[in-house]
Amino acid sequence: MDSDSTLPPVFARPTLAVSACLLGQPVRYDGGHKRLAYLTDTLAAQVELVALCPEAGSGLGVPRAPIQLIGDAAHPRALAVHDPTQDVTAPLQRYARERLAELRQASGCLLKRDSPSCGLRGVKLRASPTARARRRATGIFAAAVQAQLPWLPLEQEDVLDVPWRRDSFLLRLYTYSRWQELLREASERTALERFHRLHLPLVMARSQAAGRRLTRYVQSSRHPWHHAGTPYIQALLDVLRRPATRARHHRVLRSLADSLQPRVAAPVLRQLHAQLQAYENGSLPFSSVHAALRRCAHQATAADFCGWLYLDPYPPSLRDTKPETAAE
Ligand code: SF4
Repeated sequence: MDSDSTLPPVFARPTLAVSACLLGQPVRYDGGHKRLAYLTDTLAAQVELVALCPEAGSGLGVPRAPIQLIGDAAHPRALAVHDPTQDVTAPLQRYARERLAELRQASGCLLKRDSPSCGLRGVKLRASPTARARRRATGIFAAAVQAQLPWLPLEQEDVLDVPWRRDSFLLRLYTYSRWQELLREASERTALERFHRLHLPLVMARSQAAGRRLTRYVQSSRHPWHHAGTPYIQALLDVLRRPATRARHHRVLRSLADSLQPRVAAPVLRQLHAQLQAYENGSLPFSSVHAALRRCAHQATAADFCGWLYLDPYPPSLRDTKPETAAE
């Protein structure tokens, strides 16, 4: 992360672990794949993608017998569809343990939906091999990763289909990557305060109460910053899962515009406030008012401007052209 809040952020290249079949690798039970063009054509230009396949990687081979989840949602077993005596739960769990060190270094993980190994939610589960399937389980590998690394930005592919969910995932991926970089490089006491100040507008766009709570935590913490940091980053990533709202965005945008006031010409500022008003009324899209504030911030080069990460929390080439709030 750029340590100087007067400059737009410089983006590091985060590592994202991904189900190998989504990257086009022919590792599915039938030898096929489920390549997602967004991953291989767009995200790959900005993010280091690391492939993993729990089923092929745990020695089940390609092609292989399809498996399904049987039992209760809290502790399902992965059994071969055509031979329920073949239980592959343990190899899948072992594979998760073997990849744990690597996953700790990653800034996020994106898994294939519906898979009895990789699916994060809504995977088909049967009480017995012949019972009716219900969508209520988590895949064996996904559950193991979630239990071991609860703070890791972990999602399944369908978050990419919904603009605000995709935005939230990218936001958490890059925020956690900046945090990992901070842990590696920063030594001074003020590191946590600076990190918090730069991320606070992103929090306030989702929850003002959470923003105040995190600020109190940072200000009152007596522990060395990297010890205080673990509960901090978990709470921060948790808030960033929530959708932003138009009203909260408007408040953040206004306060950032006000912070530029002494350095921006009065007519430019008046125009910016008119655009903010139009955004609040719903007659101007978020992207327009966002771009207007970015132009003003560049002109102002304000030393205390803390809105750069709010304006560009991840590389602009990944930004969706649609608004990023759930409400819009
Ligand atoms: S869903 Fe997971 S286990 Fe299945 S082929 Fe894809 S990467 Fe492998």
